[in-house]
Amino acid sequence: MSFPTLGLSPSLLEAVAARQFEAPFPIQAQAIPAILAGRDILALARTGSGKTASFILPLLQRLQEQPASERRVLKVLVLVPTRELAMQIADFAQTIGNYLPTRLKIRAVYGGVAINPQMTAVNGVDLLIATPGRLLDLVGKNALQLTAVETLVLDEADRLLDLGFSEELNKILFLLPPRQTLLFAATAGESLQSLVTLLLRDPLRIDLGATSSETGQITQKIYSVSAERKGPLLRYLIKKGGWQQVLVFTSTKRRADNVAKKLVDHGLSAEALHGDRTQGARIKALADFKQGKLRVLVATDLASRGIDIEGLPYVVNYELPRAASDYTHRIGRTGRAQLIGQAITLLAPEECEHFQMIEKKLGQRCERIATDDLELTGY
Ligand code: AMP
Repeated sequence: MSFPTLGLSPSLLEAVAARQFEAPFPIQAQAIPAILAGRDILALARTGSGKTASFILPLLQRLQEQPASERRVLKVLVLVPTRELAMQIADFAQTIGNYLPTRLKIRAVYGGVAINPQMTAVNGVDLLIATPGRLLDLVGKNALQLTAVETLVLDEADRLLDLGFSEELNKILFLLPPRQTLLFAATAGESLQSLVTLLLRDPLRIDLGATSSETGQITQKIYSVSAERKGPLLRYLIKKGGWQQVLVFTSTKRRADNVAKKLVDHGLSAEALHGDRTQGARIKALADFKQGKLRVLVATDLASRGIDIEGLPYVVNYELPRAASDYTHRIGRTGRAQLIGQAITLLAPEECEHFQMIEKKLGQRCERIATDDLELTGY
């Protein structure tokens, strides 16, 4: 399978080649022709599978094919659970959009920042990536109409539901005309099923599961360690292993701050990424981390959702997530796009039972590595 056989226009093929995408990932091979043909889609695929390109490429092509008189009204709406994901998708779409012969207006809107600039930004937008709450605010202020939307994409739909966006989602759906709907999710829970029944007409089902081979290889390591020794062990692993880019997950914002501070105190460049930090600080931390200026990013689940960092080699669970699906999402940050990654879990005795439950849900069992004998003084 190659990109030229999928029905993409020459300018999109050029854009794809410039990104050094040599061949389509499985999700792209299946989704692109179907989306071009106007079909609904249900795709079970993790971040890292190449799902962004699987909908952005065909949707940009469709937008580009529209007569000029139909442009500058919102035709494609992408709903996402977090600001980071919104920015990331917009970034990708804009980069690809630059290769098109006709200029399309592509914007991302999300909460946590002033609404006024966004009210201007959405004027005449062709493709909008939005978090649900902010989208409704903009509609409420008459900055935007949804009546011409031809395609709705729900990205990380399972997460949208998990994060309690179902009320906003219903309000938005009520405002939309009949349309093509594309639903992407990492896991298929019960609530997702009701969305599928409600929204999709004869969808093409693409199921790449949680262990799809195109996402590369992830080695999981589980270190048994007491809660007090987690900090020293983390610093030991980073320093001894010479890890240069590490994403660490904690369960609370406060812990994220503490872990980051301690890393800094021990001479490692680190920042916390969570919902209490300003949007500016979050963007900067993420950018620095992506560019390799920051060695460690300590994040809560919400803040890190959907973060796409090319070739991220190390993910550490400083604490366990509540749900097995979050565990899958977290470790899915690494080993992406055919690279090998390591997911490390620091497991305290009091977390063992919970971890066993996660393992049971995921149908796996990992060896525990004992750390009692490890000399951590000075770390
Ligand atoms: P996504 O699942 O959309 O977050 O994409 C994961 C990563 O895979 C991103 O860094 C993409 O740039 C990269 N990617 C997507 N499609 C391809 C492809 N066909 N070939 C190589 N890399 C790709």
